[in-house]
Parts: sequence; structure tokens; C-alpha cells
Amino acid sequence: MATASIASADASSGSQQAFDRLERSLPGGDTRTSTFYAPHPVAMARGDGCRIFDVDGNTYLDLMNNFTALVHGHSHKRITAAIRDQALDGVAFSAPHLAQAELAERIKERVASVDLVRFTNSGTEAVMVAIRAARAATGRALIVKANGGYHGSWDQLPMAKQDNTAGIPPSTQELLRWCDYNDVDSLRSVMDQEGDSVAAILLEPVMGGGGVITGSEEFLHSARDLATRYGALLVLDEVMTARLDVRGYQAVAGVRPDLTTFGKIIGGGLPVGAVGGLEEVMGIFDPRRDGHLYHGGTTNGNPLTMVAGCASLDLLPRQEVERINRLGDRLVKRLEDGFSAVGLPMTLTHNGSLIQLHHGRRTITNYDDVAVEDPVVGRLHARSLSHGVSFARRGLLNVSTAMTESEIDEIAERITEAAKEVVETEALTAPDRKR
Ligand code: PMP
Repeated sequence: MATASIASADASSGSQQAFDRLERSLPGGDTRTSTFYAPHPVAMARGDGCRIFDVDGNTYLDLMNNFTALVHGHSHKRITAAIRDQALDGVAFSAPHLAQAELAERIKERVASVDLVRFTNSGTEAVMVAIRAARAATGRALIVKANGGYHGSWDQLPMAKQDNTAGIPPSTQELLRWCDYNDVDSLRSVMDQEGDSVAAILLEPVMGGGGVITGSEEFLHSARDLATRYGALLVLDEVMTARLDVRGYQAVAGVRPDLTTFGKIIGGGLPVGAVGGLEEVMGIFDPRRDGHLYHGGTTNGNPLTMVAGCASLDLLPRQEVERINRLGDRLVKRLEDGFSAVGLPMTLTHNGSLIQLHHGRRTITNYDDVAVEDPVVGRLHARSLSHGVSFARRGLLNVSTAMTESEIDEIAERITEAAKEVVETEALTAPDRKR
């Protein structure tokens, strides 16, 4: 395997050249804010299983998996074949297609709270559609969400209280009420004050982008009880967490939402989102009904995504979910041992195949405990890249079914080497925490 080099260190690297060209046509050289890091990210050329290859031919073990969407890693043969076969038969029709039933049936079989499904092209859109349905069902406008809860890039749902609100009108921000994740009192207090005007409590059962923080049973059950008590809907956003249990994380938590949003793994890597729930709520999308809710989208439920999603779910039976969750546990243990052996104080929050690295040792129960910008995690990321391991700049790692124990151990060894270099060469300062 070619030894990876940090592309940014070399002005003549293919990544630098790719960035120079991209930058001339795309602000910041890409088309997603979340993938950027300074001075520019490593540009990728292709992927195969749990490995990705940059434009200079360096190889990386991939713990990004396109921000958890690629639960089977890159270019799984069965998913690729399904996409190719469907492409030959047409990629989209302005008409029903049985591939939609195939994917919807698979989701219904797995997730008990889902009777009916609508497909979208992203998790963001799925959340937008779910909120619209909740507002239509209740005749109310307010949404309650957790500080640090990530639900996509819709301007009505910023991730955190202190997020940049450029371009978001104050009237939009007035539609939102905040609670602190895992803080029952804060949720109860917002519902006691304004519960009669709340259309939905929207939560991730495990806060993913906000630091891989698992919702306590008490918190999630309270959300269910408070939504019911005040006549609001409980919307669980399982765009990221559906990978943690075949029945959805809601089954692990023992909470039944009114609506669930999905994305990522249900599309086999192609653009996807879905909202699902019981007939009494989802029926509002039925165009035969008076006052039905309009929901369009040129590529909604396109057969290309549907067949890729079916293949992805078929490759993810309970045993595979449990296997990658165990691999996640193994990686956490190995990394914790490695970090303490080299003297880098770190806290790892994790749930199954999802892992988040935090610099410093502390208890992490909600977003206030998470560093906004963690410079040590940033350095660890850069040095891990040079050791041929790719994870998200902000320290999010996820395991794919393309990995085995041997890759997990190799990853842990390489990240430990990177951590050793961080300790040896960098003056460690405390991360910029919010409290
Ligand atoms: N909800 C959650 C919980 C997510 O993690 C994400 C994406 N990371 C989204 C919604 C948005 O999905 P998309 O990026 O497909 O719009």
C-alpha cells in the first residue's frame, strides 16, 4: 500500500491541483460545507469496500463512509449490479413503480411504527416533509428540538442555538423552541410553557452529528409522554441511527414515534430520504383525501435509488448490524487503550458502529459538553490521514460491513500512531469548550 501523505503539505499534489480547479467553479472548492477542512481536503478518486484512494494514489481505510450512508462501504458488488441493471431499464418515471413498494415493504417489515412511507431525495427533505405533516395534523406551528440535534440543512432547523443564522429570517427562528438533550426538565419546561402550540418534538434517538450522544430512556420516554400529553407528534429522526438496529433505534429505546425520518443506509449510497408512520398520520399524503398535503419531487422514489436501497437493506440483516456494532465496540476499546498508552487524554462516545472522538476526559451527556472546534481532534484527523485512515474532521467515525476485526485492529494501530505524533510534536491546549 502506498504511504499516504497529507495532500495539503505538498503544493504539487493532485489534491492541491484538484482543489485549485474546483475552486474556480465552486465556492470553497466543494458543494458541501461539512466536507471542508483547511487548507483544502484530500480529493478522492475511487473507493472499494472499506478502502478509498485519493487522486495521488494513496490508500485510506475509510471510517467516513460518506457520513455513515455507505454502511457496506464503497461499490458493493450487489448494490452496483442492482444500480446497473435498473439503469438499463430506466432511471425514473413520472408514474408508480414497484421498486417503491419493494423498499417501502422492507422498511415496514423492520420498523414497527411504520405502516406507510413517502420517499424524498435526502434526509433534509424527509425532515421537512415530516414537519409539514406534523403541522398539518395538529394545526400548530412550533417545533421543539434539542440543542445540537442535526436534522439536515433546512433553515427552519439549525443544529445549535449559537449557529450562524445568516440568511434565516427572525420569523423562521420564532417557529423553534429548544431543549437540552438528555435533560428532561428542560424539555418538560418548554412543553409546560408552550406545549399547546407545539406541532412536534423532533429528536434523534442518538444524537449523531452532535457528538454521538445516546438518548437516555428517561429522556426519550419523557418526550413520548409529553408529546402525547400536549397533543403534539413525536418525530424521531433515524436518518443516522437506523443502522444501529434493524428495527430502528426506537425499538432499542422502547419508544414509538408518530413519524420517523430515514435516509443514508436505505438508499444504498444514492441520494435518499423517507418519512414513515402509521396510516392515521401518513394518510394525509393521499391525494384522494380532502385537504391532503401536497408533496412533489421529480426524483422522489426513483427506481435507481429504490433498487440500491433494497440491496443495501438485504445485505444488512440483524446479524450484520450486530457484527458491525461489535466491531464498533472493539474499535473503541482498542482506541481507548492506544490513547492512554501514548498519553493523549480523550473521551470516546459511541453507540454500536458510530463513534465520536473528543479531546479531554469528561462526562458527555449533551451538546454543552461537546467542543465546537476541537483543535486536537483536527490534528489527530490530519495525522491519521497521513497514516492512511480517513474519518470526519470533527472526529466522527463509523464502521461498515466491509470491515473485519483485522481492519479494525489496523485502524486502531494507525490512529494510535497518529495520536503519538500529536503528543510528541504538538503543544496540547485544552479544547475550546462551551463550558
Ligand atoms: N438527520 C440526521 C440525523 C442526519 O444525520 C442527517 C445527515 N447527516 C440528516 C438528517 C440530513 O440528511 P441529508 O444530508 O441526506 O439531507
